[in-house]
Amino acid sequence: MRQGYTDQRNTDYGYTPRRRGNKVDRARGRQRLAVVILVLLALVVGWCLFAGHRGESSQSEQSAFAPLSEGQSELPELSDSGLQAATLTRCTLYGTAFGVQITLPQDAPAFTRAQLVLSMGQSRQTWPLQYNEESTALVLSGLINQGVDIQQLPVGQGSFTLQLTGEDGTAIEWRLDPAPAAEELPLNRYTVTQNGANRLVTFYAGQNTLCLTVETCALPEEVYDIVLDPGHGADDGGSVWQEVYEKDVVLQIAKLTKAALEERGYKVFMTRDGTEDPEDMMAYTMYEPDGRVNTAQSCGAKLCLSLHLNSLDEYVSQGGVQIYAADKMQYGFAGLLAQSIADAAGTCLSDMAYYRIADGVFCRTMTRQDLDDLDAYAARKNFTPFDIPVGANYYYIIRETGGVITGAYMDGRNPDYGTNLYLDSNIGVETYLCELGFLSVKTDRTLLLQNPEGYAKGIALAVAERFGD
Ligand SMILES: [Zn+2]
Repeated sequence: MRQGYTDQRNTDYGYTPRRRGNKVDRARGRQRLAVVILVLLALVVGWCLFAGHRGESSQSEQSAFAPLSEGQSELPELSDSGLQAATLTRCTLYGTAFGVQITLPQDAPAFTRAQLVLSMGQSRQTWPLQYNEESTALVLSGLINQGVDIQQLPVGQGSFTLQLTGEDGTAIEWRLDPAPAAEELPLNRYTVTQNGANRLVTFYAGQNTLCLTVETCALPEEVYDIVLDPGHGADDGGSVWQEVYEKDVVLQIAKLTKAALEERGYKVFMTRDGTEDPEDMMAYTMYEPDGRVNTAQSCGAKLCLSLHLNSLDEYVSQGGVQIYAADKMQYGFAGLLAQSIADAAGTCLSDMAYYRIADGVFCRTMTRQDLDDLDAYAARKNFTPFDIPVGANYYYIIRETGGVITGAYMDGRNPDYGTNLYLDSNIGVETYLCELGFLSVKTDRTLLLQNPEGYAKGIALAVAERFGD
């Protein structure tokens, strides 16, 4: 990366964004019709057996869900449709973290504790909900990569409810009216490969509440676990030191990383592999249908690591690793990744003060000055300026691969760039911009050229730890 350049921030926009189509959703819709009679029958049985939904896990709860026959993937609805309704206003998935936003009716009673409850057969899992002042809604977490972790969900079917505990200690259960969030549902995603196996997780709007199915499923050919994005490419060399180009160094490390991750069983997609046409204008093709932003989304990956090198003398006394992440995140994995790379490659964490939020972890967001520069750029290019708030994510690879969650805005209005087809997506790829070292610093340069395997090993170790392998 050339820091401070517009290449990472990049500006531009023009076409109507469209939501990702989904073959699985359509197939599921047809299945749903086909089994509706069975389900109604099952519901009647379930209703008769179901008693007292409001207590803690009780024996009777298992019968809230009718038994399913082999191969029948339809979920019976929440039986107790007489529950009060809270409103599901938003559903998102960033990486493997499913998030909800729940709005209570104005006359809702005071409560001291709110929990999201997932009932799957006899088992109940709960997640604490927090009241968010800004949205005046209940959320799982104010952090985009923290919520219901789809990697941890067991195979089965279930439904979500809200449990509010009043000041007198009484817990009351609410259903989640999914209608306002229906446009964002169903939301489905394959889990990251673990022990050679995957599951297809589907959150969908049931008749009365938010429902879930988790089924063991082979990963389709076109779906991947992880994206590796070697920065720059073709006519865009990135940082340079004498004859050494950033694009070549990061491509070599990406190839080694791909091999190391595949050895651990992950399915890895590369946004480029060095076979791109040398004449390609790579600094402008990120929003092409086959460009790095759109393919990071279309390949269904949960994690994207964009590999870059720094080249900057004035702000650093030493080289080292920097992991840039989105704003409002839990930064545990970013820190782990930085330390793992530093340890395995034999380098250090960058001590650069700018944008640093934790050891090895950095976050850059738009300042008023950045936005003024963008407006001036739009005026020069003769397109309507973007409507972006101060504090929006700065680097495009982080921002644009996260859809609405990270504030993607590249709608094609700048004719020099294409369009982010996933601009409006409520599913985001958890993306990190990995600045592996400084090409301008001799110790880093030596390590990057002589020990690329170390960087690859560090990345693979961190990913494996993240997913518990
Ligand atoms: Zn770069």
